[in-house]
Amino acid sequence: MITVLIGAPGVGKGTLATILAKKTSFPHIATGDLLREAVANKTELGVKASEYMDQGKLVPNEIVTQILLERTANDDCKNGFLLDGYPRNVAQAETISNSFKVDKVLNFVADKENIIQRLSGRVTCRKCAAVYHLQNSPPKQDDICDKCGGELYQREDQMPSTVKTRLEVYEQETAPLIDFYTQQGILINIDANFGMDEIEKITEQCEKALEVL
Ligand code: AMP
Repeated sequence: MITVLIGAPGVGKGTLATILAKKTSFPHIATGDLLREAVANKTELGVKASEYMDQGKLVPNEIVTQILLERTANDDCKNGFLLDGYPRNVAQAETISNSFKVDKVLNFVADKENIIQRLSGRVTCRKCAAVYHLQNSPPKQDDICDKCGGELYQREDQMPSTVKTRLEVYEQETAPLIDFYTQQGILINIDANFGMDEIEKITEQCEKALEVL
């Protein structure tokens, strides 16, 4: 089964996808993670992608699609996967429909104030790339990663001006996917206005959504 998770940046879909991947046998494929890995490894595609990512813009479709299809060709994806961060526009949705059939789409919906609050306080570990939120899931010690002791910093794409661009890009490019998948009858809305203490409830909601249709 192939499940796509869509929603604005900061809506919590990455967090939910990680939990759902542990509960199901499906790997969590996040194009943002694949791109960051390519950037860190300084591959040809990674170098090209980084200038777009740093500005909060979408990486050109052919770059991200190539990286995605290389990953989904791996054996662990043969029974399905949870796709997070792709498609980001209707052109990408049409492109992947030539390679595989999307079975379900979970659309995470949250209020704008919640999204901005979540996006504004994020920091990342320089060493292991773990992400923290200074209010919602703070590290035990300021500026230091709980997992590996690495230094925490605000990534270029976590800065306020880039966050604004990412939200605009979502409205213009990604939101039209809601109609695209609603018309196919495979979209399920998930209320994503949750706090970290409600994560179990939302996880159950997602699991139920994966069973229906
Ligand atoms: P994310 O971690 O999903 O927020 O992605 C981080 C950044 O990677 C985005 O702001 C984009 O620059 C880029 N990116 C991730 N997925 C895609 C995609 N499907 N299409 C284009 N750019 C993407």
